[in-house]
Amino acid sequence: MSELTELGVAAIRDGVRDGSFTAREVAEGFNAAVDAASALNAFIVATPDKALDAADRVDAARADGKQLGPMAGVPIGMKDLFATQGVQTTAASHILEGFVPPYESTVSQKLWDAGAGMLGKLNLDQFAMGSSNETSYFGNVVSPWRRNDGGNTAMSPGGSSGGSSTAVAARLAPAATGTDTGGSIRQPAAFAGITGVKPTYGRCSRWGVVAFASSLDQAGPMARDVRDCAIMLGAMAGFDPKDSTSLDMPVPDWEAALSSDLSGKRVGIPREYRMEGTDSEILASWDQGKQWLQDAGAEVVDISLPHTKYALPAYYIIAPAEASSNLARYDGVRYGLRDLPGGAGLQDMYAATREEGFGDEVKRRVLIGTYVLSAGFYDAYYTQAQKVRTLVSRDFDEAWEQCDLILAPTTPTASFGLGELTDDPLTMYLNDVFAVPASLAGLPAMSVPCGVNGDGLPLGLQVIGRAFDEQGVMNAGLAIEERANFTAKPDRWWA
Ligand code: GLN
Repeated sequence: MSELTELGVAAIRDGVRDGSFTAREVAEGFNAAVDAASALNAFIVATPDKALDAADRVDAARADGKQLGPMAGVPIGMKDLFATQGVQTTAASHILEGFVPPYESTVSQKLWDAGAGMLGKLNLDQFAMGSSNETSYFGNVVSPWRRNDGGNTAMSPGGSSGGSSTAVAARLAPAATGTDTGGSIRQPAAFAGITGVKPTYGRCSRWGVVAFASSLDQAGPMARDVRDCAIMLGAMAGFDPKDSTSLDMPVPDWEAALSSDLSGKRVGIPREYRMEGTDSEILASWDQGKQWLQDAGAEVVDISLPHTKYALPAYYIIAPAEASSNLARYDGVRYGLRDLPGGAGLQDMYAATREEGFGDEVKRRVLIGTYVLSAGFYDAYYTQAQKVRTLVSRDFDEAWEQCDLILAPTTPTASFGLGELTDDPLTMYLNDVFAVPASLAGLPAMSVPCGVNGDGLPLGLQVIGRAFDEQGVMNAGLAIEERANFTAKPDRWWA
């Protein structure tokens, strides 16, 4: 495989600019890597010609002496939740199979405008509902990582952005887009030993992103290091009049302001995150992370986020409630699949299409969501959950009086084997216990690799920051990255 596929976003951008190699050579290298990695099932469709066309445009622009964009020559994977004009967009669901959007999502358009090219559409949990990538209609993604216990267990890449985490970890793409509703950037990033940033709610436009839970959904970058995430987030973020929840704020130059000197910063360690069921190796990595941030100049303080344990149950009411409403649009009339039994009426078509088109996890969420929003139960569930959401947000507001950043594990366990948790949705849901609070509060948060466990599987640390402080979050991530010196990579068993 081409050495160019070892390069990340910054190295490709710089190499294309200074003429060390062409954008076309880079695109060809990654196209070949994608082609050889069908065993990972990371892509639902590959779009090698799109990657080559974008690369040729960059090479031509350079030859003409034109200014190159911040992602010029960087081919990326696009989570198949982002609408891409002329390219099938499925959300990994049968109900959207064959749907070819006549429009482009704002975030993907911004990336193309910045000079990136598309390698293909990445697999994910269906409608981004899941933590293991096993709910995809197109089959699960297989993590490139294997346990080193002598067994041959196929591992989960995490979810829902498991195609993204796998593509980046397996060097099929230098970076990929993800979306995070309750952990779907951070958890798969942790499982795959890569870096992922969920920005402040509203930083990236949701326009053209298939909606799961609109008050939580946020797009963000997944890449191999903090700098690459900073560059890519800069290209993705920005006000969009087409999304009424989009933040009307300037996009800072995060890359330029990266610094791992944390002098003057206070980092909070939330005592409620020390939960039963968390792997001892994860607790040890958390302690190690604390030390690293101190070494980087930060002061570490103990803090309390008292409503933490209610965040997950509240999330599993609010997210399904919003999903049940968002998914009402898939009725066989407007998009993709239509199942019209002979002689059937409109209602029968709705029912047959949804029965056929949605997977089990999606149906479970729609049922929960409809139930918690129903007249008799609305106050007992939905209103209660919204109150809890406010309390969780207030916990953070109070914490920010004592600290500037929060350090926590990303997940309570490392990656698990495919199939190990499919019959146990509650344990699966618990995997997001550390990720969900920041989602409910709309705060920026990231996962950065910090080492491997005894099984040889990657572990991630999570940094959470104040609203709009992506810079602080990424600077702390950089301080961890420099000290963790995470160089482990999966053996290339798939090609
Ligand atoms: N795993 C969580 C869920 O299933 C979060 C998903 C996400 O962030 N999209 O809802």
